[in-house]
Amino acid sequence: MKVIAAVKRVVDYNVNVRVKADQSGVDIGNVKMSMNPFDEIAVEAAVRMKEQGVAAEVVAVSCGTAPSQETLRTALAIGADRGVLVQTDAVLQPLAVAKLLSAVVRHEQPALVILGKQAIDDDACQTGQMLAALLGWPQATNASAIEIDNGTARITREVDGGLEVLELTLPAIVTADLRLNEPRYVTLPNIMKAKKKPVDILTPETLGVDPVSRLETLRVESPTARAPGIQVADVAALVDKLKNEAKVI
Ligand code: AMP
Repeated sequence: MKVIAAVKRVVDYNVNVRVKADQSGVDIGNVKMSMNPFDEIAVEAAVRMKEQGVAAEVVAVSCGTAPSQETLRTALAIGADRGVLVQTDAVLQPLAVAKLLSAVVRHEQPALVILGKQAIDDDACQTGQMLAALLGWPQATNASAIEIDNGTARITREVDGGLEVLELTLPAIVTADLRLNEPRYVTLPNIMKAKKKPVDILTPETLGVDPVSRLETLRVESPTARAPGIQVADVAALVDKLKNEAKVI
């Protein structure tokens, strides 16, 4: 079976982003960009399926500007077989990405699409769900385990109070949670090998998708700085402060 893993280029999780002076967004000029961490987990899951003989081919798909090719190369270095970049300079919101991915899926006909549960830049947690709705496919979000057997995917999800297990008929959409796996380190030989793997470049126009934004960002603000904490001498002093200063007890 063919598996698609969706990968987004985002600001690296170690970067402390700054709000732009005009409050239109955060400044991503000259900051380190990386693959969205949940997408690394999605690619790792897909590659493990290939290594176990469950998947025959793993295709990494990214939508975004030309440098998203670097993100695809990382996916190829983890072990994906080929990449597809839907290249556009348009600002992509989750619905637009879901439409682009659905067009790629209709063309590629995978049995499974794995996405991250959320992109750490917009924190939308929407793309996988919208993709499932557009395709009319079953979906399981926040997977912490995936087993493929006989045309079905058995998905474990960590929910309040325990584990939920869902069985989906393939083809299906799954989004990856943190504990699904620990992505491997990308080795230099695999980075070199990845340079030779094919990456197809498509555009929203060739896919017949208008990636227009449906939402307008009015203003982006930094969170207010937290007041520094203090140390108290003993429990009595703590109780006194809680009672008389914070007035919470
Ligand atoms: P979001 O709904 O924005 O939180 O993103 C959820 C997941 O959708 C991400 O973890 C990716 O797997 C996928 N995704 C979002 N945006 C893109 C994109 N531009 N290209 C490829 N995949 C994406």
